[in-house]
Amino acid sequence: MNGKNDKWGFHTEKSNLITLDSNDRSLVNILAEQVPSLNSCFFCGSCGATCTASDDGMNFRLVHLLLRRGELQTVNKIIRSCLLCGKCTLVCPRNVDTRAVIYNLKILIHELH
Ligand code: SF4
Ligand code: SF4
Repeated sequence: MNGKNDKWGFHTEKSNLITLDSNDRSLVNILAEQVPSLNSCFFCGSCGATCTASDDGMNFRLVHLLLRRGELQTVNKIIRSCLLCGKCTLVCPRNVDTRAVIYNLKILIHELH
């Protein structure tokens, strides 16, 4: 793919293309085995709205989405600002143990590097 799609009158720069098929999307499955409640997340965003570290870019919903897309480098940058305070876990309407997810994710990503 060369990044061009002139049929629609616009094109996407090659540097902005994300080829999900080449990403490693296995981490989210490992996490869901460790913390099964992750699969109950329906991306409502309540966790992000109350996050203590949101000013520093932390956003659990975004992390979850990026994990499913296999964009691990960006995930690694974002979760560094998480304080593991657990506030997001308290507000989740689906009882996702977000704090445990991030805690395990930090360990898994550390092991990868
Ligand atoms: S509050 Fe719960 S269900 Fe909503 S996005 Fe966060 S983890 Fe997912
Ligand atoms: S545990 Fe992390 S993601 Fe959750 S509210 Fe605290 S800083 Fe935000």
